[in-house]
Amino acid sequence: MLLCSGIASAQSSNPVINSIMTEETSNSQLEKLAHELFDGIGPRLVGTPQMKQANDWAVAKYKSWDIQAKNEKWGEWRGWERGVSHIDMVSPRVKSLEGTQLAWSPGMGKKTTTAEVIILPDVADSVAFQQWLPNVKGKFVMISMLQPTGRPDYNWQEFALKESFDKMKADRTAQTDAWKKRISKTGFTNKTLPVALENAGAAGILTNNWSAGFGVDKIFAAYTKIVPTVDISLEDYGMLYRLSESGNKPVISIHCESKELGVVPTFNTIAEIKGSEKPNEYVMLSAHFDSWDGGTGATDNGTGTLTMMEAMRLLKKFYPHPKRTILVGHWGSEEEGLNGSRAFVEDHPEIVSNLQALFNQDNGTGRVVNLTGQGFVEAKDYLSRWLAAVPDTIKNRIKTVFPGQPGGGGSDFASFVAVGAPGFSLSSLNWSYGSYTWHTNRDTYDKVVFDDLKNNAILAAIMAYMASEDPQKTVNTKTEGIKWPAQVKATRRGGLDK
Ligand SMILES: [Zn+2]
Repeated sequence: MLLCSGIASAQSSNPVINSIMTEETSNSQLEKLAHELFDGIGPRLVGTPQMKQANDWAVAKYKSWDIQAKNEKWGEWRGWERGVSHIDMVSPRVKSLEGTQLAWSPGMGKKTTTAEVIILPDVADSVAFQQWLPNVKGKFVMISMLQPTGRPDYNWQEFALKESFDKMKADRTAQTDAWKKRISKTGFTNKTLPVALENAGAAGILTNNWSAGFGVDKIFAAYTKIVPTVDISLEDYGMLYRLSESGNKPVISIHCESKELGVVPTFNTIAEIKGSEKPNEYVMLSAHFDSWDGGTGATDNGTGTLTMMEAMRLLKKFYPHPKRTILVGHWGSEEEGLNGSRAFVEDHPEIVSNLQALFNQDNGTGRVVNLTGQGFVEAKDYLSRWLAAVPDTIKNRIKTVFPGQPGGGGSDFASFVAVGAPGFSLSSLNWSYGSYTWHTNRDTYDKVVFDDLKNNAILAAIMAYMASEDPQKTVNTKTEGIKWPAQVKATRRGGLDK
């Protein structure tokens, strides 16, 4: 028995489990995979060439490990490719600004637009707004509020006088409410206002979707159809806002390129290690493959993706002839509504109805610390039995809740739970996921915690191994007296005008 710390310390009497642990500790491929996917291919927005490139990369990677894999088409999406975003202030002084076009922002070709920045005014009502609207012609319009601070609350909590912190929060709440009213008084919504502005001749839309951490913004979809919509960092957005407010008439130049690529097919990447005794019963590993594209989708859900790829590599190497068929689903378009996994559930009743268990991971880079029974009565028995084979150093950190509540959304396991199939979430420690990496411009390689990922790859591999080996097929009775979510149909054609 080795006496050292970390994931390698525990030894199992089971040679498969021992081999999995030794391999992952001494020969992990996670860093190499992360570099290839995050640095080489980058973000994986549905309908982009990079998503397809990632699908093809995963298939090639599985083939190099002698694992069967394919891309399975499930739908079609608006094809779009992000190009460069250059945003500079040219007056009253010169400064390159930190910002980027939102996903699906219209391209400007080779054009650069230089124009004054104005702030959405606080008008009395929609009539007054219509009267003001001609003023936007040729201007960049700021439609997000000025944040009172770029410091996260935890930083105020630590250093501010209590009265300062309380005052800032009260001011911020009042400003947020006032800004919501400012938008609604125009007669438009956050979605329709940008379109009204571009139709009135605005040169572009400036937004700031601060993610409540230092230097971090969430980057979602543009609603404009003609002119660019860009997110500008809180620091630079605030500067422009204050300059405009004080009458300095800031002027900026924007050059954003993007390409419309028509209608493109969208895929799930599915890999398989065929079962030797019960090939028609299935154990599944699961993680969505797509991402938003402000960063590189490293922790949402690059880390879940790599965890499951690495688990498959470990299984193929040390458990090449599983009793049951082991599948992995790398889903497309989770971010727009679990579409890839919902489509798979609709298209593969033969798999879903013979599912032994599915393990999904999708909440960042952290080690798994929570597992619930998703409301299934018998989950306690079989999940506990399988977890018992996991080394103490990994399993002792996991809090289990049985029978738990059935997940109605959040990630792809819910697509399976919705039809009564045993889909489970390997839920991670958060590592400031919500504010710093989830859907942000900072979701990048440097945030990955590889030791935690190794822990998760070992866990996923062992749980799949135990589920495959179990002499019994799982039975999944729904706990009575709790609300079960309904199945939702996949959107098979997205981002396109009807
Ligand atoms: Zn995700």
